[in-house]
Amino acid sequence: MFPDVRGRKILIVAHCIFNQNAVMNSVASYPGTMEKVANLIMDAKIGILQMPCLEMNTLGLDRGKIEGYKDGITVENTRIRGALEENIPDKIMNDFVNYIILQIKEYMRYGFTIVGIVGINRSPTCGVNTTSANGVEVEGEGIFIQKIKRELKNLNIEIPFVGVKGSEPEKSVADLKALLGMK
Ligand code: SF4
Repeated sequence: MFPDVRGRKILIVAHCIFNQNAVMNSVASYPGTMEKVANLIMDAKIGILQMPCLEMNTLGLDRGKIEGYKDGITVENTRIRGALEENIPDKIMNDFVNYIILQIKEYMRYGFTIVGIVGINRSPTCGVNTTSANGVEVEGEGIFIQKIKRELKNLNIEIPFVGVKGSEPEKSVADLKALLGMK
């Protein structure tokens, strides 16, 4: 089956790793991609499944408060978390989660490997190791990552998660290399 050169390995990534245009106002660290992280992923020669940017697709590019960044990133992140929790219906959130889960299940059905899921630390949505709450960066997960993890657990699917951060390229690359088994 699939007798071609495809590597049967897929890395699932937060949308903004390959598109910094989607991040909230004033926090883009790069003009296009999160360069060192994106280049490393490209070098790994694995398939890339780019998750949708949940914030942009629900709250918009302005997140409903175009100058919210002036309050500070973690304060604005906390507001965004609240806006997602209070204003976005579960059905919409679940549709985004299911969009990812369906693809994971389909690839796994044919023996492909989902190498990992890469989120964005400090994000109220895609945080893996840290997120934002009560106006500060805290240990914990963003809402989207939480929901994806919960659904994977329900399905008894184990996939490693790694969190990266645009402002910490060296650490991000090191953590990602460990996930990808690269030196
Ligand atoms: S961290 Fe997630 S929600 Fe935030 S900009 Fe990136 S993809 Fe969008």
